[in-house]
Amino acid sequence: MKKHHLGRFEVLFMICLTFALAGPVCGQDKAPGPWFKATQVADSVWVIDDHGNDNMYLVEGKTKALLIDTGIGMGALAKFVQTLTTLPVIVVNTHGHPDHAGGNYQFKTVAAHAADFEMIKMFGGKDYLKNSAQRALAGPSIPGTVTLADIEASQPSELKAIKQGDVFDLGGRKLEVVEVPGHTKGSICLLDAANKLVFTGDNDNSLVWLFLKDCTPLDVYLQSLQKLQARNAEYDKILPGHGTPLPKEFVADQIGCVRGILDGSCTVEPYKSFAGNASLCKYKSAAVAFDPANLRSEKK
Ligand SMILES: [Zn+2]
Repeated sequence: MKKHHLGRFEVLFMICLTFALAGPVCGQDKAPGPWFKATQVADSVWVIDDHGNDNMYLVEGKTKALLIDTGIGMGALAKFVQTLTTLPVIVVNTHGHPDHAGGNYQFKTVAAHAADFEMIKMFGGKDYLKNSAQRALAGPSIPGTVTLADIEASQPSELKAIKQGDVFDLGGRKLEVVEVPGHTKGSICLLDAANKLVFTGDNDNSLVWLFLKDCTPLDVYLQSLQKLQARNAEYDKILPGHGTPLPKEFVADQIGCVRGILDGSCTVEPYKSFAGNASLCKYKSAAVAFDPANLRSEKK
């Protein structure tokens, strides 16, 4: 059986490349302005735009705040968060990719699923971060960024393992960890049922990548989507890691998309990206880029 997977360093190189490509789009060609921009998206919830690269979220309770993801690590996020809240901040990663866990080094402790620890440590290494900085921070300076010296002086954060059912209690507001392996093995969503919100990292973007080396087989991702769908009485709004908020009905479209791939009914198109070539299925409002050689878990 032919089964080509991208090597770790190929993926590393290509993710590095995205910053090189993103630079002119996200930095130099945009109107001058600070690195971060925060917009309120729900009661005591802000989306933090990471200069066009990804979404982070800050959720305030009565006694603590939760920072969901740390972006690519090129903005001075810890300082920026202090302009939004005076409460103590807990930090959590939805998964270990460098555009979601890249700024971990600015925080002493970060919670994440243990299945993504290795990835977080790899992308959080100084060499990787300095390489990113040389690319992302090239050109005219942007207010609110870190410097190479900040990265050089930093220490890796301590990782704290979280799992299914764990709860972040912010005082009058609780967010529950829901494991959703697929996009990475350690991907999680955070469910704020009382406020009908779910923070989904890269599990529920309008286009989800399931073709990278560290993605699970597609049938595992389908189970994660079904698990989230089974709880859809507890959320109305999906707050994704990229793009704008989505209605809860979006998950049904994703399930239809993945089912169509698995049962062969989807008309598949080729898909090309900086991270490699894959196959693409579109279904209603959802799209999934996948590896045809990684559809089903091995039967034991
Ligand atoms: Zn990701």
